[in-house]
Amino acid sequence: MKLITSLNNFILDILFPIKCLGCGKEFEDREPKERWVCDDCLSKIIIRKEQVCPVCEKASEGGKTCWYCRKKTGLDGLWVASEYSDKLLAQTIHKFKFNFVRDLSYPLGKIILKSVLEQEEFGDFQDFLFTRSVQNLEEDLENTDSFKSAKSFQTIIVPVPLHRRRFNWRGFNQSELLAKQIAAKSGLKVYNNLLIRWRNTTPQTKIRSMEERRKNIKGAFKVVRMGLKPIPTGLLKNKNIIIVDDVCTTLATLNECALAVKRAGAKNVWGVVVARR
Ligand SMILES: [Zn+2]
Ligand SMILES: [Zn+2]
Repeated sequence: MKLITSLNNFILDILFPIKCLGCGKEFEDREPKERWVCDDCLSKIIIRKEQVCPVCEKASEGGKTCWYCRKKTGLDGLWVASEYSDKLLAQTIHKFKFNFVRDLSYPLGKIILKSVLEQEEFGDFQDFLFTRSVQNLEEDLENTDSFKSAKSFQTIIVPVPLHRRRFNWRGFNQSELLAKQIAAKSGLKVYNNLLIRWRNTTPQTKIRSMEERRKNIKGAFKVVRMGLKPIPTGLLKNKNIIIVDDVCTTLATLNECALAVKRAGAKNVWGVVVARR
């Protein structure tokens, strides 16, 4: 089986050699995931310097939702790593989402981590990202009393889920791949089946108006445990949740996810995206 896979890769390499999306060079000695955007080009991708309130988009400390906007969203903040105006970044995202190149989660994940670590001062988002992780949610789900009474705040990474039908069509959830890249570096754990998209919705990109987008996605997410059983009340109490998506536009999707985990008791909910349109 291994032989077939490497033979397969060898043939793919000859037919479709991977060239850096930025400079066009081939880096044959590197692993495929490292060839798409070379280190040199990666280092030139814009890192967002100033984070803003996700709702009014005015300057705010580390991307926190400002006091005036708190009532309007379930998100306590949003971390945006880069800018869509960066051509290489926009191209990388596009290829990741629409050409189904899974390996691009690697450079995109790197950009998110770079943006987080390059800040002079650590804010809430960094604190949550590098806090102690909840390691055994599934086990803890069976032993809810100890989970609920855990005193320290703990952080869980949750990707924006795809509906099962869309997942089957695409073959992977791009947010999940990104979430794993972030988790690998921060030591947190990705909880993949905690939040589900139980209603299949029209893709948000096909809807123009903000109001229609909000209606389309409303109530689409639910927090469940294995086997679609509802979770016990207050299970996510005192937990920090970081919701990962590749990009966001109107905030409608991230907001619905945040509301769903907050209904399950979550304390702080942050979103993180590579870029915002
Ligand atoms: Zn390059
Ligand atoms: Zn605001």
